Amino acid sequence: MPRTTLVCMPWHALSRPSLALGVLSSACRREGLSPPVEYHGGLRFAEFLLDRTDGVVTPFDYAAVAETGFPHALGDWVFAGVVNGDDFGLDGMVDYAARHGIAMRTLRSMRDLAAPFVELVVDEVLATDPELVGFSTTFMQNVPSLAVAKQLKHRKPELTVLLGGGNCDGPMGAALYREFEFVDMVLRGEADETFPRLLRALDGDGEVTEVPGLCWRDTINPARLVPPARMSAPNFEGWFGAFDASVVSRYVEPELVVESARGCWWGEHHHCTFCGLNGTSMAFRAKPAVTFVAEVDGLVRQHQVLDVMVVDNILAPGYLRTALPELASRGWDLRLHYEVKANLTGAQIEVLRDAGVYSVQPGIESLVDDVLARMNKGVRAVRNVRTLRDCESAGLTVAWNWLYGFPGEREEDYKAVIDQLPALVHLQPPDGVTRIQLERFSPYFEDPSLGFPDRSPAEAYQYVYALPPETLQDLVYLFDTSPRGLTEHQAGPLWMAIETWTVWYATSTLVRKHIDGVTVLRDRRAGWPEEDHVLEDPREQRAWAELECGRSAVGVARRLADVGLRWSVNDLQRWLSELCERGLLFTEGGYYIALATTSAAPR
Ligand code: SF4
Repeated sequence: MPRTTLVCMPWHALSRPSLALGVLSSACRREGLSPPVEYHGGLRFAEFLLDRTDGVVTPFDYAAVAETGFPHALGDWVFAGVVNGDDFGLDGMVDYAARHGIAMRTLRSMRDLAAPFVELVVDEVLATDPELVGFSTTFMQNVPSLAVAKQLKHRKPELTVLLGGGNCDGPMGAALYREFEFVDMVLRGEADETFPRLLRALDGDGEVTEVPGLCWRDTINPARLVPPARMSAPNFEGWFGAFDASVVSRYVEPELVVESARGCWWGEHHHCTFCGLNGTSMAFRAKPAVTFVAEVDGLVRQHQVLDVMVVDNILAPGYLRTALPELASRGWDLRLHYEVKANLTGAQIEVLRDAGVYSVQPGIESLVDDVLARMNKGVRAVRNVRTLRDCESAGLTVAWNWLYGFPGEREEDYKAVIDQLPALVHLQPPDGVTRIQLERFSPYFEDPSLGFPDRSPAEAYQYVYALPPETLQDLVYLFDTSPRGLTEHQAGPLWMAIETWTVWYATSTLVRKHIDGVTVLRDRRAGWPEEDHVLEDPREQRAWAELECGRSAVGVARRLADVGLRWSVNDLQRWLSELCERGLLFTEGGYYIALATTSAAPR
């Protein structure tokens, strides 16, 4: 097999290993091949920046670009001069940044150091004496990888340069292969099986042209999905060795990264209209629970790290009965992050918490029914509020973004919801309010008739790639379109309401208690009178319990009647309206949800 070095360039997170390199390392071992040498360019760049700026540009600055730069291709831009010439995209990005409120000083410092850094990487990679160098590229790793690949090929023309990873999915991989002559091969799709197979074929064992997903010479093979039983458990020895020896370890705590499933079971049948996350690999495949638990067990014991990021796009529902209770039974102090669907019950959220899940990303996206329907999200606003409430009760951190800009959405659909946001200040606010961007692979991208007929590669890519728009069309992930839905002016009240929510959350609680046979709603929310609302009437108490699940007025009346409690819908409706005025219920689309949590998590 060719002597192989795998490279993970900036802007991979500094606190965790590359899952791709970990999986490929272990896939090679499984197939009886020597594991490739690993080169962790993200850690190396953070060290380099610290050293060359005498500590002025820190790993925190690196992390800021890594975490927020993608919509503007900032990380790619830092390396664009190395690929295309020093001044390439300089003025254009400065002008773009001014229009988007992006501070450029630190980015300029990073860009000034990109060329010497690439030289260093090339020296260090060549020192590993490789015959093949593979780059794993996702998000903003394209241009940093291309910068190194170009110089590697210049210095050692007989070297084979291979690209793989999310940025190579579908037509993007074929375009990368076509447009950059120093890229010898692109391997598209999940590579647990194809990467070892390619290495063997390059060694004369099998046909290179038959490797699924490969772009090479005239071969453009379709990718193939990996079944759960063949998904490799990652091996992170290489990364932890590099991290422990790095000055970066003085700035960030390490965490593990694992995957329990690939694809999305919701998107298989109801693809959310804005989402391109799963690329060409939507089919949902979860590892057997016992396999996943053993992986976590092994990694935690080996590396003595309890923070675990699960990168799945959605939790496998069966794990709530299998893997998660099993993890809980181990009695570890795990801190897991999981992406989930926002239709979990309070009991299921407690299962998550007991297993050590401290942070979830439930894809809340909006609290407006009409907009949720437009995005094909499959939940109502009251369901989303229920998830926020139950996560608050369980002490789970919720990461979510409020999305707007959907074709057909109307200002009037937002009005009643925005008016109610002050009642939610005791629940976790969104991290941001964001106009959706058109993503490759999303239904909005695939079907222009859904509302985005005109599209062009996102402007920032012009300052990153020296390629014409018709070529970028195949190569990039984000696209500019004419704005749809709310105008920026119309979105103003939403921004303001969420700004207030964010400030008031820290000092707000609204908690339900049962005390001496009565229900007490203890209201300590900013912006509301300090009050203990007491529900003594058995009908009110029973109705409140129903409202904790999210019900219509008719639904509550029917359930009360089922247990012999009569309350006319009109009278009940009046009571519900009173509770709404006091901010104790949230209502949308004819449904009501009780807002009080069952406990107040420490802030
Ligand atoms: S947004 Fe989430 S639930 Fe919807 S298709 Fe994408 S990954 Fe699946």
